[in-house]
Amino acid sequence: MAAIDLSIFDLFKIGPGPSSSHTIGPMLAGGDFLALLRRQPPDILAAGTRIEVELYGSLAATGRGHGTDRAVLAGLLGQDPRHCPPQFLDALAHAPERAHPLDLGPKTLSISAADVVMGPVVCDLPCSNTLALRLRGEDPDAPPLLERRYASIGGGFIQYAGQQLPARGEPAYPYASMADIRRIVREEDIGLHRLMLENEAALTGDRPNEILARLDAVLAAMDASVDAGLAASGVLPGPLKLKRKAARLFARGSRNRRPPHDSALTKLMAYAFAAAEENAAGHIVVTAPTCGAAGIIPATARFMRTALELPEHSIREGLLAAAAVGFLAKHNATIAGAEGGCQAEIGVASAMAAAMLAHAMGYGVRVVENAAETALEHHLGMTCDPVGGYVQIPCIERNAMGAVKAYAAYCIASDEMPAHHKVGLDQAIAAMRATGLDMNRKYKETAEGGLAVSVVAC
Ligand code: SF4
Repeated sequence: MAAIDLSIFDLFKIGPGPSSSHTIGPMLAGGDFLALLRRQPPDILAAGTRIEVELYGSLAATGRGHGTDRAVLAGLLGQDPRHCPPQFLDALAHAPERAHPLDLGPKTLSISAADVVMGPVVCDLPCSNTLALRLRGEDPDAPPLLERRYASIGGGFIQYAGQQLPARGEPAYPYASMADIRRIVREEDIGLHRLMLENEAALTGDRPNEILARLDAVLAAMDASVDAGLAASGVLPGPLKLKRKAARLFARGSRNRRPPHDSALTKLMAYAFAAAEENAAGHIVVTAPTCGAAGIIPATARFMRTALELPEHSIREGLLAAAAVGFLAKHNATIAGAEGGCQAEIGVASAMAAAMLAHAMGYGVRVVENAAETALEHHLGMTCDPVGGYVQIPCIERNAMGAVKAYAAYCIASDEMPAHHKVGLDQAIAAMRATGLDMNRKYKETAEGGLAVSVVAC
């Protein structure tokens, strides 16, 4: 099997919520198509009259609720996920009919959110999160002058035919499974965080201190999402009128008369609510591994700082261990709710957080693996069923539960004889993959099954 050659910063992307596959991926697709347009010869551009965006599958089913229309429009208008101000997206949402000039050099076209149309939800495309961007001429029935189809494969990754991926080096320690990682750690006598850091340096050519600085920036962005959520109040955008709960939970956890265990766990959940509510508001979060699951690792990191009083370098090293688990899940299964259900988002995030805790607390690779496996195992089969197509119910509470399960998994794994653990992480990931393949399409981010249909309040 090919070795994993992903960058840590492919996994941990800073950008606007509420869904990496529905917002960050489509915004990147919009930006890519803008660049493609600007490379076209003048005669093609001269013949163009309008840009059309068509969403398919899960993007068509839940794209409006997830803000896909404004995300792809923002990308076409030159925004990128890392730097796009949330206010820019809010303005697009508040005035969907407003036309925006699209400067293509020799020609300026105009585009609005109304140019983003919903295609079929049920289609036999290889990826259920597909969008097509087209340049059309005068004749609406003629084939497009230019078209590119993008697959938004979760975690803010996009793919398209003929894609040129950035040139990368070879990993210093090639691996494709947890078994490989265990062997490398044993044979090379190297810590998991060191393995990840040296691989990142070999793949990207960046120096270790540059990588560590970028990891600190990721942790700072995660922490900022927790702070922003704790400071906010009111209702979240959308028809559910869901009240934010993070600040109230945090206040409950801060009351002196609460028992210590109640206080610590309540605060852990408050942190997860905070970042997940920021995601639901379309504000800046970090994909970890996705936007929908963007509360679990930030909550765990804040908990490690405050309740466990771990130093920042231990948290950073834990984040590297979390990245290893995220890579394995992405490489050998999926991290997209539209592909594998919520087990692939909340389940993987919880497994990553459990690994982060175990590694930062100084446990070896077997305990790290067992913690991740336990967390993932107890999310297997979880479907993706966002009510009304909004990443709010059940998503926000699932982040809190995922963080608590990560802590429980770490406690179990660090208290057992590692060799007595019967299930390996590779086996749990294989089970997640098989379960995702068998899962009915209506449970994969289409809002056509589960809670999405049994809750009709919206
Ligand atoms: S139910 Fe889970 S996978 Fe689906 S949108 Fe919500 S957090 Fe993401």
